[in-house]
Amino acid sequence: MKRVILLSMLATIAGTATAQTWEENLEKGAATTEQNHLNVPFVKPDNWRSPYTTPGNWPTFENRGPLDRSPPDSKSKVLVMGSGDPTPNPFRYGPALAVIVNGYPYFVDCGEGWWRALAHAVLTQDALDLNSVFALPNLKYLFLTHLHEDHTVGLPSFISNPYKFYAGGDKKVFGPEGVDEMIRHINAAWSIDRHEMAQGSIVRDPAGSTAVGIPVWPGTTTDGQRIFEDDNVLVEAFPTQHGFLEHTYAYRFTAKSDGRVFAFGGDGTYSEGLAAAAKDADILFVEGITRKNIRYATWGGDTEEEKVRVIGAYHMFPERLKRVYDESGVKNIVMVHVQNYNYPENFDRLGVLQEMIDEGIENILLAQDGDLY
Ligand SMILES: [Zn+2]
Ligand SMILES: [Zn+2]
Repeated sequence: MKRVILLSMLATIAGTATAQTWEENLEKGAATTEQNHLNVPFVKPDNWRSPYTTPGNWPTFENRGPLDRSPPDSKSKVLVMGSGDPTPNPFRYGPALAVIVNGYPYFVDCGEGWWRALAHAVLTQDALDLNSVFALPNLKYLFLTHLHEDHTVGLPSFISNPYKFYAGGDKKVFGPEGVDEMIRHINAAWSIDRHEMAQGSIVRDPAGSTAVGIPVWPGTTTDGQRIFEDDNVLVEAFPTQHGFLEHTYAYRFTAKSDGRVFAFGGDGTYSEGLAAAAKDADILFVEGITRKNIRYATWGGDTEEEKVRVIGAYHMFPERLKRVYDESGVKNIVMVHVQNYNYPENFDRLGVLQEMIDEGIENILLAQDGDLY
């Protein structure tokens, strides 16, 4: 008897609550659609020092949608798919870019969510027919600046996800020594999925579901090394300096369509190789990190001194980017993979950009996912 009453009470409460919430939610959704990309409502966290809650992840970043910042008549463009870093920033996908020449894409780095980031870009840019550019058979060439997890974790998806929709050709993934082994392991790890898809299919060729890893010659110097060339682009690799990794590279793309030159620094601090890769280039896509507020970094030790030493071995403080800028003579810098640590009350979403400008770097922009350059 008691149980029956309780159940019927619950049913009434649940029924009423659901009906009200549903209608309220419909109204609320219509009113806040414009704000939804800023993740409103936002609950300010008490603990702001975790990877989830660091102020750099708050919905206080540059308040704009993706922009086409490329010269309208250029036959080469760069698409920023993911401008994020290892922190789980809900507004930035992991590091992933693409050079587009004569309507054909060449990918640089393959961070978390690249495949969704690509769809986001296709759905938010009308400057180019990105839907045709990124037709599934065109997802073929990828260049990895280094093998850190945040730049490579999208690899299984790069190899397997397009295959779920098309029997494409094998992919070629260029990168530092060890990339061949990494790709072999990924091919092996997803073999159950691959074989299941191929079985009983009349359209899928299992040969189209894997990739080949092609290592850049480890003896590559600051003179650069030609690693790829076709009718659209010439790609050269230059050694960079990033923590304790033995081999990391910047890539210099020369577009044969219009002569534009794009350099991609990946992660790292100042290096002669990076300056050489960006020599007189049209754009250098590069990381940046706050020096002013480095004491608020969520990693790298307990004291400011220790953080400067540890984090400085990995990343690009403003004075070092100024050196790359001066030595390379690069025309424009576009920052991605920005680490904007700060105290919540003083948080400035454009803080790192301002530090770079204060350092004397002109023509510098902060990228957002979906931007074209
Ligand atoms: Zn990184
Ligand atoms: Zn890295």
